[in-house]
Amino acid sequence: MNKSSAGPALIDPFGRAVSYLRVSVTDRCDLRCVYCMSEDMTFLPKAELLSLEELDRVCTVFVEQGVRKLRITGGEPLVRRDVISLFQSLGRHLKTGALEELTLTSNGTQLAKFADDLKRAGVRRVNISLDSLDPTRFKTITRWGDHAKVMDGIRAAKAAGLKIKINTVAMRGVNEDEIEDLVAWCGAEGFDLVFIETMPMGDIDGDRTAQYLPLSIVRARLERRWTLNPIADTTGGPARYTRCSETGGRVGFITPMTHNFCESCNRVRLTCTGTLYMCLGQDDAADLRTPMRASEGNGPLTTAVQEAISRKPKGHDFIIDRRHNRPAVNRHMSVTGG
Ligand code: SAM
Ligand code: SF4
Repeated sequence: MNKSSAGPALIDPFGRAVSYLRVSVTDRCDLRCVYCMSEDMTFLPKAELLSLEELDRVCTVFVEQGVRKLRITGGEPLVRRDVISLFQSLGRHLKTGALEELTLTSNGTQLAKFADDLKRAGVRRVNISLDSLDPTRFKTITRWGDHAKVMDGIRAAKAAGLKIKINTVAMRGVNEDEIEDLVAWCGAEGFDLVFIETMPMGDIDGDRTAQYLPLSIVRARLERRWTLNPIADTTGGPARYTRCSETGGRVGFITPMTHNFCESCNRVRLTCTGTLYMCLGQDDAADLRTPMRASEGNGPLTTAVQEAISRKPKGHDFIIDRRHNRPAVNRHMSVTGG
């Protein structure tokens, strides 16, 4: 890929180039994962949302400013009506080489329907969240989920030729006895696997300190059975990757709570209402919807993006312990996307 085809770089005050935009296209979801949402979530009125055309417009300004990777997320991105048309229109930036990667994070429930369309639009990889291989347990964790439907979605994505990374939130006393089976299953299927620690985002019904399972424990347990060789991470993200000698698969660990990854952060997050969060763990944000709607041209929007990046904070401040059993940031992960 010819990097010189990219636009000017967005450089933050700490010298980090912002090359990765995550876009939440809806805060709605067809599941209610216990660590993510309460069962009776109140969602945004649809009138508040950016239209698909506006989402394309903001993404395009970021691509013109040097963003090379777009991840569409949510809520569940595939429950947004006609979202495939957004993938199709953004796919034009892949064709010109301005964009290196267009991808998504999904819970898998709609993938049987959309995997082929996504592949045709230029998507090559998909992150699918799956916290259990057991249907009953899957239902308990997601409250509303149908395990068979998600497995169908995963199979469809594989059949469409999409590379798959499974995201698993490790939870104490919930799925910790499955971590080894997940490594074996992903290895056999040819999927990468990433374990995630629960993060204190948004009010949920339960007690987070009870769910929290440090990945240092997960990793130590896995290493009793598997050989995990560290490999270099090139994504600039919070995952630390290993290669499992026995399965050949990659196994990653996202440890925002126990490992500070901020120094290599290359990303910002856009909500479905056009608010840009410069850091997952901070409340400071920039409104991009107003400058975008103020003008038919993209001048004010571009200026607002640059101004926002000039305020990207150095790092986050997540804490979960018994004294701080409140969310560190009040918005749910489904607002800013995972
Ligand atoms: N609905 C899609 C899905 O589940 O993949 C995309 C959005 S979801 C918010 C993105 C990722 O964030 C999922 O892998 C989910 O497990 C993770 N997630 C949500 N809330 C979290 C929390 N409080 N702590 C850690 N991970 C969380
Ligand atoms: Fe929905 Fe994803 Fe949150 Fe689960 S983690 S409730 S699938 S947005």
